[in-house]
This record gives sequence, C-alpha cells and structure tokens, in this order.
Amino acid sequence: MSQPQEFTFQTEIKQLLHILSHSLYQNREIALRELISNASDSLNKLRHIQLSDAEYRDDVPLEITLAPDKEANLLVIHDSGVGLTHDELVQNLGTIAHSGSKEFLRNLAAKSEQSEATPSADLSLIGQFGVGFYAAFMLADRVEVVTRSFREQTGWRWESDGSGRFTISPVEGDVPRGAQIRLHLKKEMEEFTDPMRLKFIVRKYSTFVPHPIKLEAETLNEQKPIWVEPKSQVTEEQHAGFYQWLTHHTDESPLWHLHLSSDSPIQFHSILYCPPSNFELMGFGQVEHGINLCAKRILVQDDCRDLLPEYLRFLYGVVDSADLPLNVSRETLQDHKLLPKLKKVLVKKVLDHLATVADEQPESFQTFYQQFGPILRTGIGQDFENRERIAKLLRFHSTQTAAQAALLVGKSTDQPIVPTVSLDGYLQRAVEGQTQVYYLSGPDLDALSRHPLLEAFRKRNLEVLFLDDPIDEFALTQLHRYDGKDLISIDSAEVTFPDSTNPAEEESTKAKPNHFTRILELFRGALDGKVSDIRESSRLTDSPCCLINPQGTMSNQLQKVLSHTMKEYEAPKRIMEVNPHAGLIQRLCELSNNSDNDEFIRDCGQQLYANSLILDGLIPEVEGTTSRTLRFMEELARGKSVIIT
Ligand code: ADP
Repeated sequence: MSQPQEFTFQTEIKQLLHILSHSLYQNREIALRELISNASDSLNKLRHIQLSDAEYRDDVPLEITLAPDKEANLLVIHDSGVGLTHDELVQNLGTIAHSGSKEFLRNLAAKSEQSEATPSADLSLIGQFGVGFYAAFMLADRVEVVTRSFREQTGWRWESDGSGRFTISPVEGDVPRGAQIRLHLKKEMEEFTDPMRLKFIVRKYSTFVPHPIKLEAETLNEQKPIWVEPKSQVTEEQHAGFYQWLTHHTDESPLWHLHLSSDSPIQFHSILYCPPSNFELMGFGQVEHGINLCAKRILVQDDCRDLLPEYLRFLYGVVDSADLPLNVSRETLQDHKLLPKLKKVLVKKVLDHLATVADEQPESFQTFYQQFGPILRTGIGQDFENRERIAKLLRFHSTQTAAQAALLVGKSTDQPIVPTVSLDGYLQRAVEGQTQVYYLSGPDLDALSRHPLLEAFRKRNLEVLFLDDPIDEFALTQLHRYDGKDLISIDSAEVTFPDSTNPAEEESTKAKPNHFTRILELFRGALDGKVSDIRESSRLTDSPCCLINPQGTMSNQLQKVLSHTMKEYEAPKRIMEVNPHAGLIQRLCELSNNSDNDEFIRDCGQQLYANSLILDGLIPEVEGTTSRTLRFMEELARGKSVIIT
C-alpha cells in the first residue's frame, strides 16, 4: 500500500482554517448546515446526471445519513451523491484557492476592525464564500472525507487536522458511492453526537432539503417543500402545518396565503402567509421576523428582511429562487441584485392579492384590515411607487358609514361587516362638481361624529371621512391627492364646497342679528394673541363657533401629534368662526346693548374658544377655563329658586 500523498493547503485556506478552529463562535450549528447543504448539492448533481444518463442509474437511495458515535466522539455525515475523485479532492478541498476564501477573510478582517466584538460573529457568512466545507473544523479537530465518485470504482480518503496540510490515500475494499464526512469532534463538541441535538439542528436549518436526512432510521425532514408543488395540489392542512412550522404558532391557521410561481424574468416559488392576528396590537412591540429565503429548496436565510418592505413585515413565508446562489448569506444578500427584483414582484403580488380579497372576501379583508391596516397604512409614506395601490386598500369610517352602522344596531348577524368606505367608494358617492375629498381626524369616532364642523357637510349631503388614527392622517397628507381630487381636512380654510350644494339664496342672506359685529369685537379683545382672526362663519348651522386652520397649516390632529412629540412645537394660531344664527350668539347680541354685560360676553368668547379646543381633543388653558366655568355655575346657581313648587 502506497504512502498517503501529502498536500499543503492554499495560503488563504490555511488562514481560514486557523480562524475557524480557534474561534469561540457560538453558533456552531451552521457547520452542520453547511455540510448538509454540500451533501444535498452533491445529491442534486447526481440526480441530474442520472436523469440525463442511464448508465449511472441504480437503486441506491439518494439520501443523507447522520451517524453519531458517542463513544468515539465522532459524527459522520454521509450522502450517496456524486462523490469526489482523487483530483477533485485535491482541487476542491484545499489546493485551489476559491476566490471566495480571500473575500471571506477580508470580510472577517473588515468586520473585526469595525466592532469590538469578536470577529467570529461573522463566521455564519462562511457558506456564501464557497468555503462552507471548512466549517467542519469548527466542530472537529480532525476531518476525514471518505468518498467514491460515481465515475470510479476506487474510494479515497482525504484527511486533515486543519493545521496546514492534508493527505489523500486510496481506500481498500468497497466504498459506497458519495461522500462520508467524518468529524472527529473536539472534546467540547460532544453535543454533536447527541441525536436529540442533531434532530433539533436539522429541523431548524435543513427541513426543506429536498432529500431525506436520516438519523437512527428516522427521516428528520418530513416537511415537503410545498411551495414548489402546483398550487392546486397543496391542501389547506398542508398550508396550516407549514404555517405553524414557520411561525411557531401552534393551533393557528393563516388568514390567507398567496402561492406564487414564476419562471421569468426571475425564477421563483413562494408562499406567503398572513397571520390571523397582529401581535403588535397586543402591545408586544414590533414583531421582528423575516422571510425564509431558499435557493433550490435549501434554506439560505431564515430571516431575510430584504424581501418585503416594512409595511408588510407581518407576513411569513418562503421564497425560493433557483437564480440565487446557494451559499449566499445575510450581508452579501443585501447587495445581491436579485433581491430588489424579487421584492418588487412580491410587493406587487401581495397588494394585488389584497385588492382581490377586498373584492371577493370582504369579511376576511375586514379582519385583515382591522389587524394589519395600521401597519399597511405606513406604506403610503414609505413606498412611493405603490402608493396608489396601497391607497386603494385604505378603508375609513365616515359620516355615511356611521349612518349605515346605526341602521345595523340591533340586527344580529354572525359576523357583521362594519361599514367602511374606500377612497374609490367615496368618489363614487361624491357630489357633482366636488373637487375635494373631505376628512376629519380626531380621537375617536364618537367625538368625530359630533364635531360642529360637520354641520355644513351634513347640510350639503357631502360625505366626510373620519380618521381616528393619526397614521391615517399622515397617510392621507402624504398621498395628498387621489384620482385627481385633493384630500383635505375639513378644519382647513382651504375647504371649498361644490356650487351645486350651496344653500338657497334666502337662507344665505338670512338676517344677521343686530350688534353681531360688536360681539366679534368683544371676542377679539378677549382672545387677543390666541387666534389669528375672528370672523363670521358660513359653515355652521347650530353650533356657536368652530376653529379653522389657516391656509397651508396642518390639521388639528397633526398639530396635536407634533405638540406631543416636539416640546418646542408651537401650534399656528387658528381662525375662530362664529355662527350669528346660533341661539347663544343671538342672545349675546341682545345683551351687548348694555355695556355692563361686556365682561360676561368676553368670558363667553373665551369659554367658546376653550370648548372648541376640547372638541378637537386639545387642552385649553386649565386655570382660566376651570375658574370661568366655576363662575358661570355660581351665577346660575344664584339665579335658581329655593322655593319648592
Ligand atoms: P461550495 O460548496 O460553495 O463550492 P465548499 O467549501 O463547501 O464550497 O465545498 C467545496 C467543493 O467541495 C464543492 O464545490 C464540491 O465540489 C466539493 N464537495 C464538498 N462537499 C461535497 C460532498 N459531500 N460531495 C461531493 N463533493 C463535495
């Protein structure tokens, strides 16, 4: 028997091995992932060869076997794939520099300069540089590769302790086709002989490997790669099972799923799942997870955040593209040109799907929107390209839907659909000549539906959208226009009414009470410095007054949000509009005849201003407001009689 041939590792590989065998890197599981991934590659290659060449077909099952041996502290990973010839062993496992090894080392060096943390934190990238095999030396202090190529009858043994050299020698006797990676484990790596631990690791990283991975006669990866199956052949049960596996949410089914397959321009299969509820609404903070990214069914990254935008972060799923190199990982993925392309397609498909759900399954869409609407809405500001698509999905309560909802009260249905309206629905109901989409935002629907500003719109039969979540208003402000119409807050001075809705002549010229200008004067004196103007209102019917934001300023709600977030924020002064036909104002006009009442009228002006602020969810000046109302109550109480009638 000839002496083993000795070889020296190529320089970069030597350096790499030094780092790997000395690293304190915690996540050593990835070494197993890399070796299983190589085994699976090898099986894929053989499968292809067997398909195209009958000569190599046989009955040997294409599978991966893990054989731990506790006593010998040994783990063998066996595959029945293509195996390696003598020359392939020399070239592929040590002497030919993969361009990747250099890059990988450079990457490690750069990362360790950037951070104080140990450079080993980036070892998980190893696979992407085409040097995954060497991760074996994270676990083992001696590695043997016993292999026989499908082309040959002789087997070979490659062996190294990772210190700089390796040997190759022929193996006598029968060697099964394929490769056995024999890891002589480091002492502290004995956990890799524990079947439970191995099962855990395989299920975590290699469930989608398209060949059986066996351990102690058990196949560990029973999960079928259902995303590559034709849509119609995947059952709801399979979806539920896959969803649970992905999300770790047991006993839960997805609200909907989207199964996509495409061959061009990009080849990919994907299944995306929407959970039935939004954890973030339950106060768990932002839920952090990504999409499982596979290349040819092998998991490349289980938490890829670059495939979906922030505003679709709640979706789970898998994306599998044959156009993606297997050994790509987190950092380089970000630069991979395929990802933005995949993302673009996925986003479009998801938004289109949502539009279909909205059309065809309104109940399901309602649940979706209640749960995920707040996240989805942020997309308007984030995704310029898809803003119109997202805008189409927005749903609102409104003056009209509130009326519809009132009709539903008392009528019991299983899952009543709470009436809402989309922007398209709104425009369908718009009045002739209407150039603006009106909205009002406020703390809750109850307060909104009682807002005095609505009077003019109700009278004119113009629908007003209610925004009870500040995100809604941010979204609409960013959208600015929809289908050629301006989106406008009804507390803005920029509101215009369609001519056709203007009240009849006699009503608009209804007589104003005497002294109305004097009332405005007194109010001006009382509110000097607080408002920018006080003027007669044409938009109120019953309420005595309202506050309007001058042209070009933000709506009340946005101002409120800003004043909460920025201490130094100073709200712009508003315009107070006074309704000459309101009962109180008419009485004040009469009282103004006697200048003794001026003080009281000024007090009323201040209190009306305070009330308007409260209606908008703002807090008026506390001291003045409370002492004034106390005075009003005292005066009224004095006027009451103690005599029992
Ligand atoms: P990569 O797999 O990215 O090429 P590796 O360092 O993991 O990088 O492997 C180097 C090469 O060694 C592979 O390209 C392959 O040719 C060969 N190889 C590794 N593992 C096996 C295996 N189990 N069976 C056959 N060939 C293998």
